[in-house]
Amino acid sequence: MISLQPDIPRVDAARAERAVIALDRALGGSKVLSAREARARCEAYARDESETAPQVPDGVVLATDSDDVVTCLRICEQHEVPVTPRGGGSGRTGGAVPVAGGVVLALEGMRGIKEIAREDLLVVVEPGVVLGDMMKAVEAEGLFYPVDPSSLGYCAVGGNVAENAGGPSAFKYGVTREYVLGCEAVLMGGTRLRAGRRTVKGVTGYDVVATMVGSEGTLAVFTELTLRLLPKPTAVRTLVALFSAVAHAGKCVSEIVARGLQPRCLELVDDGALVALRANGAAIDERASALLLIEIDGVGDLDPLLEQIGDACVSAGAIDVVVAQDEAQRARLWSARRELSPAVRRLCKSKLSEDVVVPRSKVAELLAACDRIRDEEQVRMLAYGHAGDGNLHVNFLWDHDDDLPRVDRAIERMFHATLALGGTLSGEHGIGVLKAPYLPLEQSPELIALQRRIKDAFDPKGLLNPGKIFLPGGAPHRAC
Ligand SMILES: Cc1cc2nc3c(=O)[nH]c(=O)nc-3n(C[C@H](O)[C@H](O)[C@H](O)COP(=O)(O)OP(=O)(O)OC[C@H]3O[C@@H](n4cnc5c(N)ncnc54)[C@H](O)[C@@H]3O)c2cc1C
Repeated sequence: MISLQPDIPRVDAARAERAVIALDRALGGSKVLSAREARARCEAYARDESETAPQVPDGVVLATDSDDVVTCLRICEQHEVPVTPRGGGSGRTGGAVPVAGGVVLALEGMRGIKEIAREDLLVVVEPGVVLGDMMKAVEAEGLFYPVDPSSLGYCAVGGNVAENAGGPSAFKYGVTREYVLGCEAVLMGGTRLRAGRRTVKGVTGYDVVATMVGSEGTLAVFTELTLRLLPKPTAVRTLVALFSAVAHAGKCVSEIVARGLQPRCLELVDDGALVALRANGAAIDERASALLLIEIDGVGDLDPLLEQIGDACVSAGAIDVVVAQDEAQRARLWSARRELSPAVRRLCKSKLSEDVVVPRSKVAELLAACDRIRDEEQVRMLAYGHAGDGNLHVNFLWDHDDDLPRVDRAIERMFHATLALGGTLSGEHGIGVLKAPYLPLEQSPELIALQRRIKDAFDPKGLLNPGKIFLPGGAPHRAC
């Protein structure tokens, strides 16, 4: 069952207020907002970019350095008050929504880029730096950070690490985890840890950094991140292949992979998503029912690779292949792609965007399963996303609350179809609140219990971002 309004008890209001007063005394009024005195400002921290029902926190700490984070986590643990870390608030699964009330720890004020080390190919940043700003800063030094979620203009690096974010270029470059070398993190209670390294290699002890990456703010709060960089590619080419049927586009993805070609991005837009693009002003050939946005990069002459990719598109049935001729055309294509999610949002009253992944060879089968589910459940569905990784954003759209049971059934059927194809429930958005009820569809009770024990080791009182990933109180899922 979709969990838009999770059943998580709110912390006792009087206890939360005592904690907020203690935080105010320790940090000063300019860094602490209290819902009693500044409710409107606290409301800005009640939601993220998901359909999770907003919850206004009892207080907000506006951290400007790691000492503030230590103080916040120490005082909140003393008062047994939950803390929800927050970066840019662009999460898709309710991770930054303070579902149990308590304190939101806002890291947007920690935006420093502390070091760009050209010889060591790394950057050291504070967690609140906006990803796009960090990318520009390293590119100015001839370096490259390749993980590029479509939200790069407003998501924060700490949020990316907490969600193990991906993006269009994951096809070639992988996801955030591959770039996190080390971090400073603070545990609930205020213990500061340094984990990881600045070196390329390093196998000392357990890989605690990898455990924290993707832990959705439930294990520790990142206060500094050391990220691996690459030399900046000197050439980039972008093309669009149009197809008369989404099945042909799906086949093209497999064709490109099977030929051993490695574009950096291989993005699919299906017919439903094309409706949103066209409504948003994009002029797309009316014959097209699907498109692939493909980008290649490297050093030197990319024409031979461009030609090979064009060939693969044509043999998969492309009706047209258009190559961007200059930077302005390329920017227009990417701007349309980045605007796709808000454009879909405007098509209906409510939408949920899932981000399932299947093995690359199964993309066409997943799309066919979605078609079947859409027809049988009579639900408005569309798909777009990182087809090269097998990672599709399947969107469910509805206008009336009484559509919800059918949407719910369609989502669960789509999850079952994904798992039957050897896939996984989330490629990049995480589990958060919205997908917590579905975790047991994919993971065994033993694996979930092991993860809960890891959570207990980091946060024995369960105060850091409660209600996320696991259903509260070890409640069994109806599928178990
Ligand atoms: C239009 C749009 C497009 C998107 N495209 C992509 C995409 O292509 N790929 C992709 O992967 N995602 C995408 N996303 C989702 C989202 O942008 C990512 O999940 C992003 O990584 C979230 O970063 P944030 O700073 O906004 O995190 P928030 O939403 O603030 O928080 C996300 C989670 O991280 C935790 N957190 C935040 N900061 C810290 C910290 N310093 N320490 C510990 N935990 C922390 C929070 O508690 C929460 O659980 C998209 C979102 C939108 C709205």
